[in-house]
Amino acid sequence: MLRCLLPAALLLFTSAFASSAQPNILLILADDLGYADTGFQGSREIPTPHLDALAARGVRFTQAYVTHPSCSPSRAGLLTGRYQQRFGHEYNPMWLPNDTTVGLPLTERTLADDLRAAGYRTAVIGKWHLGAHPQFHPHARGFDHFYGILGGGHNHLPATKTTVEYEAPLYSEKTAVPHTGFVTDQLTDAALAWLAAKPAPFFLFLSYTAPHAPLDAPPADIEKLAHIADPKRRAYAALVTTMDAAIGRVLEQLRASGQLENTLVVFLSDNGGPTSKRSPNHASNLPLRGQKGDVFEGGVRVPFLISWPAQLAPGVYPHPVSALDLFPTFLAAAHATRRADAAPLDGANLLPLLENVSTPPPTRTLHWRVDGGYAHALRSGSWKWMRVGEKPAQLFDLETDPYETKDIAAEHAERAAQFAKESAAWSATLVEPVFVNQAFRNTVNE
Ligand code: CA
Repeated sequence: MLRCLLPAALLLFTSAFASSAQPNILLILADDLGYADTGFQGSREIPTPHLDALAARGVRFTQAYVTHPSCSPSRAGLLTGRYQQRFGHEYNPMWLPNDTTVGLPLTERTLADDLRAAGYRTAVIGKWHLGAHPQFHPHARGFDHFYGILGGGHNHLPATKTTVEYEAPLYSEKTAVPHTGFVTDQLTDAALAWLAAKPAPFFLFLSYTAPHAPLDAPPADIEKLAHIADPKRRAYAALVTTMDAAIGRVLEQLRASGQLENTLVVFLSDNGGPTSKRSPNHASNLPLRGQKGDVFEGGVRVPFLISWPAQLAPGVYPHPVSALDLFPTFLAAAHATRRADAAPLDGANLLPLLENVSTPPPTRTLHWRVDGGYAHALRSGSWKWMRVGEKPAQLFDLETDPYETKDIAAEHAERAAQFAKESAAWSATLVEPVFVNQAFRNTVNE
């Protein structure tokens, strides 16, 4: 059994998941959000009242992980429910819209494929980043509707100049549309328009480009945060507060239309915030060490909420969970089954765990592999083991050392050796990356 790192869970759940009606599912993904940079995560600097309210009426997870410390591989794991290294999606794709190898391999079924098969209307609005070639288009990956960008990010304001990828058109389905204003608001308007038709049940993957760089938030929103002295952190914070306001608009429309009660809403970030060495956003991941790109906790442990007012009472879940768990959780909530010939999922359905606080969390090891094996890490109980590059393997006990400062591999040599073996055995079940992005070295590990 995994050791509990925090006081007993404060969960109280309704007696059963007896509802026969399929819930709507709203999956909101922030891009490069710092662990500490919302009110519900403890920030007193960056006001996020709508996310805080969502946290207050939902379940907040204090040890939630993504499968990779950077954008695209993390999204590949999230949307397939499988460790992305099982199918070679281990790097961020280069911006190569004519390349048929750089994208989420077509062997994989997505969450949208399975939910659509269960009767859901499906949409992705925002950042895709799972391949820009037409064969990887969201329409080919289970989504009825797409509005957003195919690449890894976008200028937030039309006047900003950065790169070809970040200045590429937005698309409505397969038609280019002009970038007319602050992109967070433009994406949100598209989401509200799609939801206004009351698709039922719906699965909406709302994938914001905020607060990823560039830090070109609207000046008026930056000015509201004058209490933040550092101008870059102030601009980054404005990308967070404007995303929070946008999420507030979506939730308010669902409330006003009577849909919120039976909508399962999930909010998380795709990886840790960049703090200093990589695309510096001046995000904060405190009290965790490291940042985007690292296998330290700051790279892979993320803010994570689930709200489903019709079924789940508010609380805090203190045991480790993974973004991989969302796929089976959504299928269970939707009373959907996976196609018999589909590849097995790696996560666990969280609903039974959340239903009864005395249910022990699953005994399992969470694994990471980055850059085709440049970095390996695992989490087992409160232990965190990692090996990066040519450096000796390190071992930490997160219960007593949450900031990963004291390497105890030498003191626990036998255990460290066992973890090295376990990590190698897991890695041996994976495939080589199907595309490699040499220009993007994921692992920083400050
Ligand atoms: Ca990201």
